[in-house]
Amino acid sequence: MALEGTATQINESVIESIEALANQQRLEILIALAEKKYEDGAKSAMSFTQLYDAVDCQSTSQFSYHLKQLVGRFVVDTEDGYQLTYAGDKVRRALFSGLYESSQTFDPVAVEGACPNCAAQSLEAYAADGQFIVECRACVTPVVSDLFPQSIAQGRSTQEIVDSFGYGIWAKYMFIRGGVCPECYGRLDTTVEQRERGDRSMSVSINECRRCWFTVYFPIDVLVAFHPVVIEAFWQHGVSLLDIPLWELFEYTTTENWNTTVRAAEPFSASVEIILDDTEIRLSVDDQPSVTLVEKIERESADGGRK
Ligand SMILES: [Zn+2]
Ligand SMILES: [Zn+2]
Repeated sequence: MALEGTATQINESVIESIEALANQQRLEILIALAEKKYEDGAKSAMSFTQLYDAVDCQSTSQFSYHLKQLVGRFVVDTEDGYQLTYAGDKVRRALFSGLYESSQTFDPVAVEGACPNCAAQSLEAYAADGQFIVECRACVTPVVSDLFPQSIAQGRSTQEIVDSFGYGIWAKYMFIRGGVCPECYGRLDTTVEQRERGDRSMSVSINECRRCWFTVYFPIDVLVAFHPVVIEAFWQHGVSLLDIPLWELFEYTTTENWNTTVRAAEPFSASVEIILDDTEIRLSVDDQPSVTLVEKIERESADGGRK
């Protein structure tokens, strides 16, 4: 993977920025400014006195010192008063998301869906080591894993946590479709490869961020499923693909009604045939990867009418 453009130079300025945050009053300043913005809208700003009153600090000179450590990086001093910068707001949101708190967990729970490796419908979701994992109990293979933000577990039942990950994965996938890293917004490099898993071979798109090394794999079935013609056909058959999680999509991709034929490995090229009752859709996938509709056929149904 190309590493040019990676922001890994740990210089004095980065260390100073991190040091500037390690203080109760300074974090309280970030929160006070965010609260003001939340209440008053985008144009909100706070004067020195307003901020001093909002933060628990013993003297104005001490407060002034703490504020000075933030200005330029996390806080900007404007004509209207002090405001959060993008970085300041990101740090404050990270605090609220529980990023710096201990790991959350939940009891393992059975979930709907199918294993893309063995097609068994015996999936289980659980949390381990800061990851959310959906695993197949039949072949003991992780089917899905994702970073586990602490805030996702707060105030949600186990089922709601699992559902949230379903939507969260699609949100990340939308960034990935556009070549954007969902973690740092850097540029993604995407390749398509055949991967052997057990006795099955699977075509996967591998997406790697040049900037932060975030790496994610998706079976090419996901790319195919999000072709507008496929979304529409599923909708006509009572399934809203955006509202079922990735592991439930595998229930469709692992049947004989979803066939992928790899035509060439290098450069990658495959054809995919999807049958939904009387509808047949044929698409091709290349190494870009891009998905192209080849044809969509509506067959006459058994009673002679067209659906
Ligand atoms: Zn399995
Ligand atoms: Zn990244």
